[in-house]
Amino acid sequence: MKVALCKGIGLLEVTDIPPPNIGDGEVLIRVMAASLCGTDLRILDFGHRKIPAGAGRILGHEFSGVIEKVGPGVQGLSAGERVAVAPNMGCGACAECLQGAANLCPEYEALGISLDGAFAELIRLPAKAVLQGNMVKIPGTVSFEEAALNEPFSCVLNGLEACQIQYGDALLIFGAGPIGLMHLMLGRSSGTRKVILTDIVEERLRLAAELGADVVLHSQASDFKKKVLAETDGKGPDVIVTACPVPEVQEWALEMAAVKGRINFFGGLPQNRETIQCRSNLIHYKNLKVTGVTGSSNIQFRRALSLVASKRVDLHRLISHIFEIEQAKEAFEVARRGAGLKVVIKPNPSRR
Ligand SMILES: [Zn+2]
Ligand SMILES: [Zn+2]
Repeated sequence: MKVALCKGIGLLEVTDIPPPNIGDGEVLIRVMAASLCGTDLRILDFGHRKIPAGAGRILGHEFSGVIEKVGPGVQGLSAGERVAVAPNMGCGACAECLQGAANLCPEYEALGISLDGAFAELIRLPAKAVLQGNMVKIPGTVSFEEAALNEPFSCVLNGLEACQIQYGDALLIFGAGPIGLMHLMLGRSSGTRKVILTDIVEERLRLAAELGADVVLHSQASDFKKKVLAETDGKGPDVIVTACPVPEVQEWALEMAAVKGRINFFGGLPQNRETIQCRSNLIHYKNLKVTGVTGSSNIQFRRALSLVASKRVDLHRLISHIFEIEQAKEAFEVARRGAGLKVVIKPNPSRR
């Protein structure tokens, strides 16, 4: 089978390898759509603590496909079924796992990180993933591409759940990339009165407006903060999400939030710029809730997929490029340039 193999730092190669064998309780999936994300680019550039130096790894953790084969002992699933897969598996026994947050398990395994991922014609799903409910059948109304994008969307759902949105809240989102735009889509269907998107790229702001942002603002404009205040009745946004890796933006969020505001630091910061200046009295006197999330739980993955199926959100709008697996290098280059939004690889383009 054809795969895009990360052979080491900066080394991505499209190559042919034997398809994986599956054992008891395992499932083989024919990958129909796999989207790229910043994590894939970071692993290619810097490696990952879960990947031993010198080991090759097939990346790709946002994907969907068709069950090709089920191993002995697998119940309730059969070849030909369309499925989406949540990539994180926990140990099953620690406190985080017992709370349903396998994504926070200290011993987590993840497809496309500690295990081979989805930039391949076929992917092996370990028995643990099958048993823990990582695999979900895709409703007929959901395309393979949407089902792949459901993974980052479920992380966005995790982030907005942490913000405890109330009807009538004003939501400010920093960053109008795919993640910011997913926050926009979900925020709009969560009873907010206004969603404000901000970015430094005009083209992204234009798209945000098209996708229903009530206000779009260039965050480098001199009167940016004043405008946000004016758009929020002089009080500031009730909810602020930072969907960009910029330290100053986290500082601004603390300054700009309304009394009793809720903030989610969704985007992590670069390793050498992790420290921010925090006037902690802002949190104290304004009674702010400052939250952070990473990944999503399997139940959030399912809830996200049910929203996608309902058509209240249209993730198709976020797909800017589709490539075949042979073009994986080009796909990574396009994603790196940040020229578009989501880049999707279709390893089995001739199948449906
Ligand atoms: Zn991702
Ligand atoms: Zn665990």
